[in-house]
Amino acid sequence: MNSDDSFIDFTSPPFDNPDADLYVRSTPSRTDFFVFKSILAFSSSDFWKNMFQMSNNDDTTGETKNGYPVIPLEESKEVLELLFRFAYPPSSAPKPSLDTLTLGVQVLEASIKYSMQGAEIVIREELFRKFLESEPLRLFALACHHGLETEMKIAAKQTLRLPVVGHEYVEELEHISAGVYHRLQEYHLMCGKLASDVSKIGGYGNFHWIQRPDYVWFTCTKCYRSNHVSIKGDQQVRYTPWWGDAIRSASVVLKDKPSGATLRDPAFMNEFLEKGAECSFCRGKVAI
Ligand SMILES: [Zn+2]
Repeated sequence: MNSDDSFIDFTSPPFDNPDADLYVRSTPSRTDFFVFKSILAFSSSDFWKNMFQMSNNDDTTGETKNGYPVIPLEESKEVLELLFRFAYPPSSAPKPSLDTLTLGVQVLEASIKYSMQGAEIVIREELFRKFLESEPLRLFALACHHGLETEMKIAAKQTLRLPVVGHEYVEELEHISAGVYHRLQEYHLMCGKLASDVSKIGGYGNFHWIQRPDYVWFTCTKCYRSNHVSIKGDQQVRYTPWWGDAIRSASVVLKDKPSGATLRDPAFMNEFLEKGAECSFCRGKVAI
């Protein structure tokens, strides 16, 4: 059976190679990709090999185009293009880019659906490399949904940069149970308490995690220093008022967002650096 002419060939490299031998069709986008059977077979443990076998055994009804078999799929052309680019050898085409997490998730799910393990690993790494900082909750839910334990832990850690309550709704949450979400919040609360305690002046924590006594906020000879903390080796060091204010504020904000990113945020840090810069001695050591 010859193919319907209204399906358009996707002609960008590497899908313009005349030596290819199979059309894979994006039915919703009415677009055909001219690809190599061997590359698809190599990329998958069994899905594509079984598919070729079925199309060979189905000579009477199987659709063809220019004499080559056509395999129709339900994914969009954007998803199939990225999926095949990730499956093709890197030397055959420029490295593909996942512009949005939504599209990236669709490509990842297609790689899982079609058992393309090599592409799946590369897509997963690319998703985490690109979106871990900006979309940790979505990646956490995605990793849970697909049983990816290592990625789940990495993403859970990154969610600590978000407030403990009031997470914005993301559709991937539909894929995890209320129990999993509850445990994520418990983890967040526990990390928040620990981070807050270790930076609490005069509280449960101490400052033994500070390795050296030669920071400017301990050594300034201009700032008035009366209060002290105990650092590594039980050394008692006096500290400047601006550092005391910063560390007390850190203890408060870390309870809600126990992440280094919280403290590196200029919206938090600049206020205290500006105070430090008011001192002629500290000014040379603090950077705004
Ligand atoms: Zn000073």
